[in-house]
Amino acid sequence: MKKRVIIIGGGIAGLSAGIYSAMNGFDTEILEMHSVAGGQCTAWDRKKYRFDYCLHWLVGTSKGAFHEIWKETNVINSETVIVNHEIHSRILDQDRNEFYIYSNIDRWEKYLLEIAPEDEIPVEKMCNDMRKSALLEPFSLPPELRSPLDYIRIGPKMLPVFNVVRKFGRLTCKEYFDKLNFKSERIRSVFYSMYGERNFSALAFIFMLGWFHQKNAGYIIGGSYPLAQRMAEKFESLGGKIFYKRRVDKIIVENDVAKGVILTDGTRIEADYVISAADGYSTIYKMLEAKYVSKQVDFAYKNWELFTPLVQVSFGIKKAIKAEEPIIVNLSKELMIGRTRLGNGFSVMNYSHDPTMAPEGKSVIIMRFDSPWELWQSIGGEEYENEKLQIQKDATVLLEKEFPGITPFIEVVDVATPKTDVKYTGVKDGAYEGFMPSKENMMKSLKMKLPGLQNFYMAGQWLFPGGGIPPSAQTGKWAVQLICKKEKQTFVSDKV
Ligand SMILES: Cc1cc2nc3c(=O)[nH]c(=O)nc-3n(C[C@H](O)[C@H](O)[C@H](O)COP(=O)(O)OP(=O)(O)OC[C@H]3O[C@@H](n4cnc5c(N)ncnc54)[C@H](O)[C@@H]3O)c2cc1C
Repeated sequence: MKKRVIIIGGGIAGLSAGIYSAMNGFDTEILEMHSVAGGQCTAWDRKKYRFDYCLHWLVGTSKGAFHEIWKETNVINSETVIVNHEIHSRILDQDRNEFYIYSNIDRWEKYLLEIAPEDEIPVEKMCNDMRKSALLEPFSLPPELRSPLDYIRIGPKMLPVFNVVRKFGRLTCKEYFDKLNFKSERIRSVFYSMYGERNFSALAFIFMLGWFHQKNAGYIIGGSYPLAQRMAEKFESLGGKIFYKRRVDKIIVENDVAKGVILTDGTRIEADYVISAADGYSTIYKMLEAKYVSKQVDFAYKNWELFTPLVQVSFGIKKAIKAEEPIIVNLSKELMIGRTRLGNGFSVMNYSHDPTMAPEGKSVIIMRFDSPWELWQSIGGEEYENEKLQIQKDATVLLEKEFPGITPFIEVVDVATPKTDVKYTGVKDGAYEGFMPSKENMMKSLKMKLPGLQNFYMAGQWLFPGGGIPPSAQTGKWAVQLICKKEKQTFVSDKV
């Protein structure tokens, strides 16, 4: 008899866990509350336009442990087209002065020295820190399965990375910028305005360009939805079963061993192992009724800051509008969109680099801004609908400023709020990437096992502050590696 593995959630972590579980011969079922797989990694269609929610870049498009996962899970196959943007983003300050971030660190350094020759020393220091970060190599095995040899093998290569972590691991971006002491008002205003006002880890900033520099964080044509679909197809081709509109309410535990799940409609499903790839808080505090909480988990959920949720306004434009850069970040801060004051500005993404998003001769432009959960948690009914209408109006005015004359060409507008995200994925307080990477938690992760509970594993973005598709998929793989170890069976993985 094959052992049975139940996976809660069909986001990237759940799909990855499902693929490796089925690949290793387990009778595997994924239970997903929504009607499609992908979780945060999703998109929706409106009148032949596709509005993508997630994918901008995928770490591991060319090499490394994540790349292996993408090949094994069918995220990357022989037909996948990858785009490496030269420009990472274009920034506009309050007065619409332009500032560029290039994906290649050498090119960015040259640009920064051109606009701020007085900052030769801090620019070179910062770019050197970033170059060192590019040497980072993710481990392929979970911590429990690594041998001292695994650390010795990567040690010398990673020494420069360890030094960057040691020096800046406990700094915020602001503290890091203070240390560098830029003189140029232009650099100071962009850096402080973008990253300086939040408890955002300096390492998250330093590591930002490392992967791009190596062309190892490309965009996959088609975006989020086909990416998740390819994973779901791979899972089903291995004999796995995915059930939609099945919401798990409780995890069955007998004598501290997970034995299956109970759905919200009361259905009981028995299993030998349970992997939860659903929202972390709901899993630990609701499905398991807070009976298996370590001190670290308790501390994290009480103290670590969550990502501020976002509003996405998607525009279908009946006109081709080309863009050189995938993202424009507008740092105008005191503007209002609906009831949200734009504390962190807003961003505009033109998908002209992906022909699958709009019919020929047309364009998709997406606007996003942070909007605290407190503004959304108790709003409903007519008030909610009116707020969406106001957002649509205000966002259209801002779009017109970015692209003068565009308004008559707007054919479709779609507003997705933090409530939309919570409704379809159950993510806590709309925190779409889990815990914010701050100076306190950037180098920390939460354990996949909960204390005292057997045959149960956590997977997904809530284990690593900062979230992202790669760690989500990796923890799905790791959960199955741990199950194989427990079953005393050799873990296997096949490429596409
Ligand atoms: C706007 C945006 C942009 C992003 N950009 C990028 C990017 O460019 N690159 C990148 O790497 N990452 C990006 N991310 C982050 C990335 O999408 C997430 O970190 C990752 O997809 C999380 O995957 P997950 O499987 O851990 O969680 P989720 O995607 O949240 O999946 C959880 C799944 O569990 C299901 N579920 C929840 N509760 C239950 C229940 N009780 N019963 C059954 N099912 C349940 C949900 O419906 C969902 O499908 C972005 C995210 C967003 C929102």
